[in-house]
Amino acid sequence: MTDNDPIAPAPAGSLPESAGLFDRAKRVLPGGVNSPVRAFGSVGGTPYFVAKAEGAHIWDEDGNRYLDYVQSYGASILGHADPAVLAAVHAAADLGTSYGAPTRNEVELAELVAERVPGIEMLRMTSSGTEAATSAIRLARGATGRDGIVKFAGNYHGHVDSLLVSAGSAVATGPESSVGGVPASAGVTEGTVAQTRVVDYNTVPTLDESIAVVAIEPIAANMGVVGPEPGFLEAVRAECDRVGALLLFDEVITGFRLASGGAAEFTGVQPDVWCFGKVIGGGLPVGAFGASREVMSSVSPLGPVFHGGTLSGNPLATAAGLAAIRQLDAAAYERLNGLAARLADGLGEAIGGAGLPVQALSIGPLVGLFFADAPVRNFADATAAAQSGWFPGFFHGMLAEGIALAPGPYEALFPSLAHTDADIDQTVEAAARVAARLAAR
Ligand SMILES: *Cc1c(COP(=O)(O)O)cnc(C)c1O
Repeated sequence: MTDNDPIAPAPAGSLPESAGLFDRAKRVLPGGVNSPVRAFGSVGGTPYFVAKAEGAHIWDEDGNRYLDYVQSYGASILGHADPAVLAAVHAAADLGTSYGAPTRNEVELAELVAERVPGIEMLRMTSSGTEAATSAIRLARGATGRDGIVKFAGNYHGHVDSLLVSAGSAVATGPESSVGGVPASAGVTEGTVAQTRVVDYNTVPTLDESIAVVAIEPIAANMGVVGPEPGFLEAVRAECDRVGALLLFDEVITGFRLASGGAAEFTGVQPDVWCFGKVIGGGLPVGAFGASREVMSSVSPLGPVFHGGTLSGNPLATAAGLAAIRQLDAAAYERLNGLAARLADGLGEAIGGAGLPVQALSIGPLVGLFFADAPVRNFADATAAAQSGWFPGFFHGMLAEGIALAPGPYEALFPSLAHTDADIDQTVEAAARVAARLAAR
């Protein structure tokens, strides 16, 4: 944080209901939240407590409406409370909420994913992206008989113990942030991360035959949005092939968002193992990991790698996922791409026009915003941009304009299919006003 931009929380008392709930929450939930970024630690102030959401908007407990670019960190790609998703969930709920036995919807969701993502022949559902990544790593180790893992600094794979090293998203802003091979969380032993090697994003690692798996966000979206440079993913793929390591695409954000077939389709590079979350559940808890039939044959009960879950493939969640993914056709991706480009171009002009350093970019439907003078290639660049100190003031300025961004400098912006061109233009106009005020300080 630099002193050119002190944290500027919303005026005290302006959110009395949220403030009251936050006080109660802090007594019974660590930091008042169930996921740390929600506590507003890196922007200051009191988080708005959400009372309801519809389409592109959320309403807080104090009755304020915000144009929402969080969209459940991308899970709500259609926008909030999509009518078809709600109808599917209501219909499923009437039939019971969980059985502990297989259901039709699980089969249909698995078939739909396998159809959309060439290379996936079988998958297994979980209840979160973290579980999907945990199980995908276990599968890769079990299938190869090797222990080593390579991950990229600033990539986030959920709270998987062995991957909590140099992780992005909220891990990067907390007291637990770390560099190098040191665990990024207390409670993760050095032994747990001893087999995890961290390399810079956009730098091709040299592997050896101890490596089971290289885990990567094919488009990094938890250190802001950082794209792979030309040839990078191809070279990582080739290096994995050279030593017989598996390549794992963590598509928890990019899956069903970048394209119908996710990042593999978008980039043309095919991994061996995928994990999904967020969009695949249509806003309900679903994750999944998948691979070829051969690799997935290592998963129990076919093979020796254990995976299970009481609520895995839950009937409400799979109904929501099906209802969401079925709406994601070519026209939907074209529309999302257009919204994202309009937003990124507009933010770049608005913020740059005010004289602030800015890199606003879109990669397909993903939008990233850095307060930096030069393009961001890796975690070190992203961290420098975050430390420029502009983000908290920009965040609170936008919130006061009725526009909700994720409360952390390492998060992407998620325009949804419910956003309109007019919403984007309103956002850009607000950004110009906020940036001008910040520049004038
Ligand atoms: C969100 C995210 C996860 C974790 O998913 P959860 O459902 O929050 O456990 C894993 N990987 C990536 C790339 C993510 O963005």
